[in-house]
Amino acid sequence: MANEVCLRNNDLERPWLLEQYQSRGGYEQLKRILAGEITPAQVIDEVKAANLRGRGGAGFPTGMKWSFISREAPGQKYVVCNSDEGEPGTFKDRDILRYNPHQLIEGMIIAGYAIGATRGYNYIRGEFWEPYMRFQGAIDEAREAGLLGENILGSGFDFDLHVHLGGGAYVCGEETALLESIEGKKGQPRFKPPFPAHFGLYGRPTIINNTESLCSIPVIIEKGGKWFSEIGVANSGGSKLFSISGNINKPGVYEIPMGTPFAELLEMAGGMRDGRKCKAVIPGGSSSPVIPGEQMLDLTMDYDSIQGAGSMLGSGAVIVMDDTNCMVRVLERMSYFYYEESCGQCTPCREGTGWLYRVVSRIENGQGRPEDLELLEDVTRKIAGRTICALGDAAAMPVQGMLKHFRDEFEYHIEHKRCKVGA
Ligand code: SF4
Repeated sequence: MANEVCLRNNDLERPWLLEQYQSRGGYEQLKRILAGEITPAQVIDEVKAANLRGRGGAGFPTGMKWSFISREAPGQKYVVCNSDEGEPGTFKDRDILRYNPHQLIEGMIIAGYAIGATRGYNYIRGEFWEPYMRFQGAIDEAREAGLLGENILGSGFDFDLHVHLGGGAYVCGEETALLESIEGKKGQPRFKPPFPAHFGLYGRPTIINNTESLCSIPVIIEKGGKWFSEIGVANSGGSKLFSISGNINKPGVYEIPMGTPFAELLEMAGGMRDGRKCKAVIPGGSSSPVIPGEQMLDLTMDYDSIQGAGSMLGSGAVIVMDDTNCMVRVLERMSYFYYEESCGQCTPCREGTGWLYRVVSRIENGQGRPEDLELLEDVTRKIAGRTICALGDAAAMPVQGMLKHFRDEFEYHIEHKRCKVGA
């Protein structure tokens, strides 16, 4: 059961066009809703029944997030889509913008209807020029067809949608930094609480959802929350996009049911390149702790299974590494990324990410000291859970994972001043 939800129109010749989307029943769910067939409360109930957990990485239940906003509360409310996709290894949301933009737009309008919002923003990563052009083209088409704007299809419901291009900072994928960025400020995370449902964009109640989450909504309304939930497994409803890359034959984006064995996903992706051994897998983007290949081959792709192995499903960005990879070198590159992307607002992250990078770098360069591994662990403990946003944890967790599973490679580097791989 592949390509059931977000990629279901990919077999069409130009699936990003309005007439192609409508040839598959596109915007029919919006029409049903606006005709009064489904109330806002019923929309939220279906999304809750779908067991749709946020696809951006945190996995928070989407229906519950929507229910935090009172539809009846006076004043402006907002729907914000997070298309800032910047986690190393993640490349799924840009395919939705490219190939299924109308389903995302329909999902955002339905979200607006459910919470009583009349404005939406899609925050698209600034480097995504082609996906942005496709999405903006779809907005223009929808507006022209009376599907966006004032008095949609004569229903009396208003909802308009705008694109905001990101400025290039990874941390703007964090929801409150993203809001600051839309408001024209420096993209730095806010202290929470208050959460965006109470104090969001321009201080108004706001829901922020990932691209894949919002794109799933029209299908959930069409087929029912129960149908969607049953595609997956307990606690992980639906199907999910996985962007799989690394030392494999067919890197790409695959939509498969939650709970699919990793071994099956690897097979879909053409298996290991040159028939080499699967040494290690980062299952949910670079911030998720690494899992040894042999262990990963026994796991299924859902929240509980990956969490039980000490990691996270995250955004579904699977990085597969064979036995030619040096884990010290891998960690050096990842540590540099978080050091570079820290916004500098809080001390444990600003200083700690630099410590992590410099210590891993000296181990990689043959200048490591025996006490460095304890030092690394100590620094991660001083970062994790002590920062304003999750970037601090994201920098600490890969270090902890690498030292847990591949400590011998770090010790070898320190003792022999060179790499164990290929020695
Ligand atoms: Fe900025 Fe890092 Fe603090 Fe997040 S954890 S607010 S990125 S300094």
